Amino acid sequence: MKINKKPWPLKTIYGIRNRIDTNPDFQRPAVWSRSQKQLLIDSILRDYDVPKLYWRKTGSKPDTYDVVDGQQRLRAIWEFFDGSYRLPKNADSIDGFEIASCKYDELPDDLRIGLDIYPLDIIILEETDEDEVREMFLRLQNGTTLKAQEKRNAFPGKMRDFVRNLSEHSFFSKVGFSNARYTHDLVVAQMACLELAGGPTNAKNNDLNKMYENNKEFDDKSSEARAINRVLNFLNEVFPEKTPELERFNVISLYCVVAELMKQYVIDEIKPHFQNWVINFEQERYSQEAKSEDEADPEWVAYKEKISHSTDASDSIRWRMEFMLRNLLEKYPNLSLKDNQREFAHVQKLVIFRRDKGICKLGIKCDGIKLTWDDWHCDHNIPWSKGGKTTVENGQVSCAACNLSKNNIII
Ligand SMILES: [Zn+2]
Repeated sequence: MKINKKPWPLKTIYGIRNRIDTNPDFQRPAVWSRSQKQLLIDSILRDYDVPKLYWRKTGSKPDTYDVVDGQQRLRAIWEFFDGSYRLPKNADSIDGFEIASCKYDELPDDLRIGLDIYPLDIIILEETDEDEVREMFLRLQNGTTLKAQEKRNAFPGKMRDFVRNLSEHSFFSKVGFSNARYTHDLVVAQMACLELAGGPTNAKNNDLNKMYENNKEFDDKSSEARAINRVLNFLNEVFPEKTPELERFNVISLYCVVAELMKQYVIDEIKPHFQNWVINFEQERYSQEAKSEDEADPEWVAYKEKISHSTDASDSIRWRMEFMLRNLLEKYPNLSLKDNQREFAHVQKLVIFRRDKGICKLGIKCDGIKLTWDDWHCDHNIPWSKGGKTTVENGQVSCAACNLSKNNIII
């Protein structure tokens, strides 16, 4: 990397503004307020020192540049020269010159010329590759309020590229939240984090940073990468158009639900109903939230709590996934397990136990006793050996004695 430092007069910098790209893909969108811009111009007029700007030379004849650092300052200067804003009403005079409420054109000549020739230190980086520039951008931005995902987007490596690519997946054109400050990238990064962990896990900024760090060589053909693609393709297919119910907080839970369904259940059975289920689930949530705490179902009250804070914590993600899966199995009790599996899945058992209120449904050896969660058998109503499916619909609570007795009768 070649580094070339030179003071450039502001007027010169303004003159070549069309050759400077202030928004290369690792940069953040403009966020400076009017008063921050005014403060910069005021500082320059008073001859305070302004920190260096870093540009990367991207072409010659004529020279072109990417801004690595200093985008906000550059925009503030250009906009002032353009006459887009005035100095503050209460600005103090400088050497006896009044500057309050002045636009660039209205400044006293002495000050305006001083501004035109003010030397701003520019560091030009030449012969650099993308990764070096991103690395420098990261270092320069540390300690500022740059948001975590924006920092990660400047972090070189294959995980970054994988996440950036998938954030353009057409599923994200269907969701109800925008990509402001790379929210889509953040969601994909969380999906990758969950997939790499094989299920719910902490997906906070620190965890995502570590994931980027540890997966610089991430293979976008790996089984995890393919699994993430499969879930996104499924979601993209079941939501044919923009669906405002898909919000920032539930897309991650939905990801877990679909990933779990793909692992354990015959996913094609639920596919035609999935969109309806999500929309109904959200409607149920709205109507529960409209009720007073006393009237609302305590489970929905707990769900509201879980989506209100610490949504990136492992136990919250797992709780929400199980809550949604349970809801889905209550509505679609015919959903069967893959490979004609005999053992009931955990969530199926939860739904069956709650539906039967823990009461033995066989009544062969008992009169329907009430059982505890630690002490019940999940019985196939139509026996598995006779072709009965392992579904919520075909499951029932039974006590040990009745279960044993039924099995003896069948044999
Ligand atoms: Zn019994």
